[in-house]
This record gives sequence, C-alpha cells and structure tokens, in this order.
Amino acid sequence: MSDLETFRAETRTWLEENYPKGLQQVSLEDDGDGSIWGGRRAKFKNKDAKLWLDRMAEKGWTAPTWPREYGGGGLSAAEARVLQQELGRIKARPALMSFGLWMLGPVLLEYATEEQKREYLPKIVRGEIRWCQGYSEPGAGSDLASLRTRCEDKGDHFLINGQKIWTSYADQADWIFCLVRTDTSKKHEGISFVLFDMTTPGVEARPIKLISGSSPFCETFFTDVKVPKNQLVGKLNGGWEIAKRLLQYERQNISSGGFGGGAGVELEDVAKSYVGEEDGRVADADLRARIAAHRMEAKAFALTVRRIEEEAKAGKGLGPAVSIIKYSAAKLNQDRCELMVEAMGSQGLGWEGAGFTPAELAATRGWLRSKGNSIEGGTSEVNLNVVAKRVLGLLDHQ
Ligand SMILES: Cc1cc2nc3c(=O)[nH]c(=O)nc-3n(C[C@H](O)[C@H](O)[C@H](O)COP(=O)(O)OP(=O)(O)OC[C@H]3O[C@@H](n4cnc5c(N)ncnc54)[C@H](O)[C@@H]3O)c2cc1C
Repeated sequence: MSDLETFRAETRTWLEENYPKGLQQVSLEDDGDGSIWGGRRAKFKNKDAKLWLDRMAEKGWTAPTWPREYGGGGLSAAEARVLQQELGRIKARPALMSFGLWMLGPVLLEYATEEQKREYLPKIVRGEIRWCQGYSEPGAGSDLASLRTRCEDKGDHFLINGQKIWTSYADQADWIFCLVRTDTSKKHEGISFVLFDMTTPGVEARPIKLISGSSPFCETFFTDVKVPKNQLVGKLNGGWEIAKRLLQYERQNISSGGFGGGAGVELEDVAKSYVGEEDGRVADADLRARIAAHRMEAKAFALTVRRIEEEAKAGKGLGPAVSIIKYSAAKLNQDRCELMVEAMGSQGLGWEGAGFTPAELAATRGWLRSKGNSIEGGTSEVNLNVVAKRVLGLLDHQ
C-alpha cells in the first residue's frame, strides 16, 4: 500500500469514528443554516457542530496544509486532497467557515513575523477569533488604492481614523484585518496592513440591509482607534503587496465553492418536479437545453479550476489567472440561481408565508443574494480587465 493509500485508509477510519452522529442525521439547511463561523460569540445551534469543530481543530484539519507548529495539519497537497475527498464521501459539513482560514492565514504565513504567526494562526485554526476584512471604503472599491482611512504614528502606538464600507460580518467579528493610509504623498506605497480588535474603543459597526433580507455587512467607523505597533503586518507602507496577495486568496476561495448557491441540489431534479418529466428528461425542451449548457459550463469550469490549482502547486503560485475563475464562478452561480427560480415558476418568487416550502424560499433569497457575486471580491468588469492585461497580455491603452 502506498503512503497515500495508507493515509486514505486512516483518514476514512478516523472520520467514521469522529464525524458526529448528530450532524449525519440533519442537513445544514434543515439545521437553519448551522454553518459555524467561530469567534468569541460563536453560536452552535447543534451541539455536535462544536464537537466536530473541536475534533477537526485538534488534528489541525481545519487548516490541513498549514505547518503543525502553528496548529495546522502539516499535510502535503496530495494528502489534503485525499482528506477533502474523504470529507466529500461522507458529505461532512465544513467544520469551520472563516475569513481567517481563507484569506488572512495564508498571508500571515507569508508576511508575518514569527511572533505574529504564533499569536494569530492557532486561534484561526481553532475558530477562536472571527475576522472581518476592512478593505473597501466609500470612494475606494474597485480603485482600492484610493483608500483614505488614516493611520498616524503616535510613537508607542498607531492612531486610526476613517470609514470602511461593505465590511462583511463586521458586527459579529472579533478582529479586523484592515488597510490604512500611512503616507498621503504616495498612492500604492502609502498603504499599510494592520490587525486590531473590534472591541477597541472608537470602533463602530453599523449593519446594512441587503435585498435578500439579510444584513451580512456593515459600515464600519474608526474614531481615534489606538492600535499597538506590533499589530502591523509586513513593512510600514508595504501593505499594498499583502493586500493584493490576500485578494488572490479571496478570489480563489470564492471560486472554489464560496458561492455555492443551492449546492447539492440538482437543477434537473428541481426542473422535473416543477415543469414535469418526459422520457426521464425535463419536459420543457428550452429549459432542458439551457440546463444542459449550464452543466457543460460548470464541468469545464471545474476542470479549469483544477488545472489552475495544479499549476499553483507546481510552484507557479497563485497568479492573475485567479481572476478567470472569480469571474466565471460568479457568472455560473448567477446562472444557476436564475435557472432554479425559473424552473420553480411563481413558487420561486416567494418571500415568506405558508404558500412556499423552505427550499423555495431559500431559492428566492439565494437568487437575490447571487446578484452580489459579480461585485464581491472584485467586480466582474475589473476581473475581466485583469484577465485582459495580465493573463492575455493585451495592451493597456489608458
Ligand atoms: C456581498 C458583498 C460582500 C462584500 N464584503 C466585503 C468585505 O468584507 N470587505 C470589504 O472591504 N469589501 C467588501 N465588499 C465590497 C467589494 O469589494 C466592493 O463592492 C467592490 O470591490 C466594488 O467596489 P464598489 O462597490 O466601490 O464599486 P465601484 O468600484 O464604484 O464600481 C462601480 C461599477 O463601476 C465598474 N468599474 C469600476 N472601475 C472600473 C474599471 N476600471 N473598468 C471597468 N469597470 C469599472 C465596476 O465594475 C462596477 O460595475 C463586499 C461586496 C459585496 C457585494
């Protein structure tokens, strides 16, 4: 048996013994979206979700490839893929959803001091601290480097004043990774990357309501916020490079499943149950053809993601090609949500009330939520610009 086969066998046994029974019997949706985001104020609707998080964190498998000295699993890329496959085989829920795992951790591994890595990474692995992302500002979204949140050197600390916007889950997060301006004379070279506690005096998060009815993000205000100097990551005025690297991780994560609208639900099955079935196929020929085209695109997309991931592992690193997958993932998810509500007909347009099943209401809200997919993590237009200039090498005439 090869080492990898042995690892697979051991992983399978461990998962059989440790994936809690209480999570096998009830789906995430039926658990009222029991996704676990961790943090000081974490809520566990299902107590087995806490058990699952603790067991996975203990093995470092919430961050399978991070080094063991920072709490990670220390797995090779091939072992991590086996773990992913085995988790998929038993349809395990993610033990932890976390901006710390997806975005901050990878850049800390690359840019933070040893002391910072030991301080922040293990807490991310264990889901003890929930992070939010303080990038966008009014007037600095696509043109992020125009950000103006001021950070002054006050000798023994930094003093931060300004405003962020669209800060996802700022009202529930414990800490923020935040881009600030430390030099007003230069645009890109005047930005720094700092970390601070959201309970620091002077931090205020005000939720904003979305068309889907939920309030996942906030306006975030900073008034004379004092930040210890050892919470600067990388060099002073060197934050732009870290900011861009983090965006690559964000786009990669969004693309490899972060949208997932109605994931696990087969479009064909939904269409058959609403518009009917003929010879085992969706009865409406036009809808059937569009669902088939969507499936082909989804398959091609999955293969492209796989290729880009393999290239990254082969040492080429995460490159601008991530913009291809961010753009396509957004379009695919929007198309999928659109097809889903279309197949449901008027049942796909409910908001509340007894006339609609929970799945129908979730489809409507998921469709409305999907409108943001082509904006979050960099808009589709901006990602197409990146693909044109940096992937295809087309000339920039501006
Ligand atoms: C669901 C969601 C969650 C988010 N979460 C966070 C978060 O946690 N933290 C955070 O910091 N931000 C977050 N954002 C903000 C997001 O990063 C910004 O909305 C995005 O970068 C666009 O910036 P903007 O809204 O200022 O739009 P603008 O930059 O003003 O863009 C407006 C329009 O102009 C187009 N445009 C702009 N520049 C160009 C160009 N050069 N070429 C062609 N077209 C262009 C854009 O594509 C867009 O259609 C979130 C957004 C959404 C929708």
